[in-house]
Amino acid sequence: MTHVFADLENLGHEQVVFFQDKDSGLKTIIGVHSTVLGPSLGGCRMWNYASENEAIFDVLRLSKGMTYKAAIAGLKLGGGKAVIIGDSRTQKTEKLLKAFGRCVESLGGKYITAEDVGMSVEDIDIMRTQTRFAVGGSNEGGSGDPSLMTAFGVFQGMKAAIKFANLGEDLKGMRIAIQGIGHVGYHLASYLHAAGAKLIVSDIYPNQLEKVAHEFAAQIVSPEDIYKVDCEVFSPCALGAILNTKTIPMLKCKVVAGCANNQLEKDDDGLALMAKNIVYAPDYAINSGGLINVAAELDGYNKELVLGKVSQVYNTISSILSLSKRDNIQPQLAAAKIAEERLQKKPENTGMNFNPVFASANIASTV
Ligand code: NAD
Repeated sequence: MTHVFADLENLGHEQVVFFQDKDSGLKTIIGVHSTVLGPSLGGCRMWNYASENEAIFDVLRLSKGMTYKAAIAGLKLGGGKAVIIGDSRTQKTEKLLKAFGRCVESLGGKYITAEDVGMSVEDIDIMRTQTRFAVGGSNEGGSGDPSLMTAFGVFQGMKAAIKFANLGEDLKGMRIAIQGIGHVGYHLASYLHAAGAKLIVSDIYPNQLEKVAHEFAAQIVSPEDIYKVDCEVFSPCALGAILNTKTIPMLKCKVVAGCANNQLEKDDDGLALMAKNIVYAPDYAINSGGLINVAAELDGYNKELVLGKVSQVYNTISSILSLSKRDNIQPQLAAAKIAEERLQKKPENTGMNFNPVFASANIASTV
């Protein structure tokens, strides 16, 4: 058995709640890591965990990550996450989703749920019949698929990292290798193509690849070769843990900037990037456009405001990289430092007051 209280103390969680609903078979754990900056927000993941300990570990790890992501994005939100134990392909029913919605509602807004692995926009719509505290649905007031805004944020953050690496500000002719042409990768390719970049792309499935090759004149390479491409920017947009002792020696880029979560396999892998003079834009800072997009629902979704706020990912990445250079620390440690400073400076207007989520959103000032 995991030592739950020891883990909560180590990771700094405020609350972890276990719910079960016999009728629907729901077994869920909601982790509220922090409400210092505002109500905790984070997706609900449905996964067939091998053990309850594994599910607890996941919810604790992921909810803490959301605290940092919201803080670095300058949102008046805390970090939370939910996991549902079960196979989303066979055990996800309307009854179960409704029961989960009632669990979320019972927390009175301390935790706001959203989409994650095993959940869809339609599932959020079902939850929303039972709770006011679910975002990212397609029905009334919902912001739907966040991948366009995530890609827009990555595009902004990538430009900041390119400038920081002294490669200039014009993307025309810049060679950018994208690993993974999924939801975000496709939109990112579109922004980069419009800016004049030369794209080199890989995916394990051919469908989207042929589309980007055709639409954006992209060159296709195999999943093995994408690391070795001669390019200015390598953009991981597929899976996590792809920056590691095996792949980093292969990289020929000057910048790593992409949307995938948890790109570094181990913390030390960031040091290996520094040793190669590769500028790394920390994943949870550069990919925060999706979070900003769903958070905007809490103030009444306004696309113009969201675009403005997501544009600030440029400043966020610039601030992180400047701090990393000044203190000679890895960019991901610089990002954590900025997030922790924000968590120390608790804003006056905290608690369950959602309005306005964007009010404290001045990202640029830290460094
Ligand atoms: P997606 O599933 O639509 O796309 C991922 C793509 O990567 C797929 O096309 C898949 O075939 C491809 N892929 C998988 N393994 C690969 C490999 N070894 N080599 C090359 N391609 C491979 O997912 P997405 O929504 O585009 O998200 C991509 C990443 O960004 C994920 O890590 C996700 O957690 C993260 N992220 C996404 C969002 C969002 O708004 N969707 C927000 C924040 C972070």
